[in-house]
Amino acid sequence: MLYEKERQEVVETCQFMVKENLVVGTAGNVSVRIGDHVVISPSGVDYDTMVAEDVVVYDMDGNHVEGKLKPSSELPLHIAVYESTDAQAVTHNHAYASTALGLVVDEIPPSHYYSGMLGGIIRVAPYAEFGTDQLAINVAKALEGRSGALMKNHGAITLGPNLKKAVNLLPILEYTCEIQLRAMATGAPISLLSQEQIDSAVVGMSTYGKQPGRDED
Ligand code: 13P
Ligand code: ZN
Repeated sequence: MLYEKERQEVVETCQFMVKENLVVGTAGNVSVRIGDHVVISPSGVDYDTMVAEDVVVYDMDGNHVEGKLKPSSELPLHIAVYESTDAQAVTHNHAYASTALGLVVDEIPPSHYYSGMLGGIIRVAPYAEFGTDQLAINVAKALEGRSGALMKNHGAITLGPNLKKAVNLLPILEYTCEIQLRAMATGAPISLLSQEQIDSAVVGMSTYGKQPGRDED
């Protein structure tokens, strides 16, 4: 079996999303890129019973390489993200706060400096039906210069140099959205960061959590 280690990582990442309440049911999908190949979760398979063999391999043109099951319906989205960024892993979820906030804003207001962890003010990709090329186009555009985006009437997406880094951004994004929603619910004026403050946080966050000699990439 090709990419056994990466397939196992895809399974574990899906199960992490369940454990962290980042998905409902079989929503969401996960992939990792290896050269011209995309190792991606199968469509609509229960995460608790998913095994490495269920994970499938496609190439960057969307051709089947290995695996028996149907790929995630969002394969075109994952490929579009790999084509337009240098990401090596993509995680997509349907969590409560990120989905709810995407219904009421077109970008996440800069109420928390964690936006810097995702590369700046986070955009909301316009709605298109799940699994479509139009959704892939909309989301790839919303991700320009960012490591995450919201998807209107749908969910959220993050990317990174590996699966662990990509999926670890989902709780950060969810937290950022939850904070904004809670603040909005009070009806009181919300304290927002300036563009300069966000830009500075982006710089600060680019080295955050990297301890020399311990957490090298
Ligand atoms: P898949 O189960 O086909 O990956 O679809 C879930 C989803 O989140 C669609 O956007
Ligand atoms: Zn989805």
